[in-house]
Amino acid sequence: MRSRIVAANWKMNLLKAEAAALVQKLEEPPEGTRVVIFPSFPLIPAVAELAGRIEVGGQDLHPEDKGAFTGDVSGAQLADAGCTWVLCGHSERRQGHGEVDDLVARKIAAAQRHGLIPMVCVGETKEERKAGDTLKVLERQVRSALEALQGEFALAYEPVWAIGTGETATPEIAQEAHKFIRGLLGEDVPILYGGSATPDNAAGLIAQPDVDGFLVGGASLDPGKFLSIIRASG
Ligand code: PEP
Repeated sequence: MRSRIVAANWKMNLLKAEAAALVQKLEEPPEGTRVVIFPSFPLIPAVAELAGRIEVGGQDLHPEDKGAFTGDVSGAQLADAGCTWVLCGHSERRQGHGEVDDLVARKIAAAQRHGLIPMVCVGETKEERKAGDTLKVLERQVRSALEALQGEFALAYEPVWAIGTGETATPEIAQEAHKFIRGLLGEDVPILYGGSATPDNAAGLIAQPDVDGFLVGGASLDPGKFLSIIRASG
């Protein structure tokens, strides 16, 4: 049985006191569900200290282990700060920072060198979906990641057109993509859905056989909403 995972991507939000207050409003994860928070780098130690059974991850890492890379963070530094997870290939990195599949694969390898569990994000843009290229794009992104992946990992299907837009994939659209990705990854890998997940749409999405949890952006900044999504996923 695959574990349920509900993850919070806080992106570049919150100050230390706000982050601490938010974590303190969350509950220990229910049996069989893993909860992971991805805070921005300066918040990681404070969140890790308060997290209890909630797991903590970095939002990005550099593919090299150390060196002259101003502004970057290494896998070793994330692990040292209390992380056990790291996001790789989030669409805001792919689009805003020009991260191509090869770089994402090198980041996955770096994460695993330092004992971090990669949560690999894949997803098509609106244009790619309109052109009928969704499955082709997903296959390219997943196969490239698979070349680097070994050991434990999770995958997040995040259609780019659904991230931060309020336009959630329908359960049928999500299931089609998850089932396709499942065919590439096998039965054991948790596949999360991400893209405007809310307490209102979580139950319909988690009812799909290949949806194993959520990567939540906006709604994860509201402890009440995030808790509702966790409860809907249990
Ligand atoms: C995300 O950034 O991974 C995400 C899913 O954001 P949102 O829930 O705000 O669409």
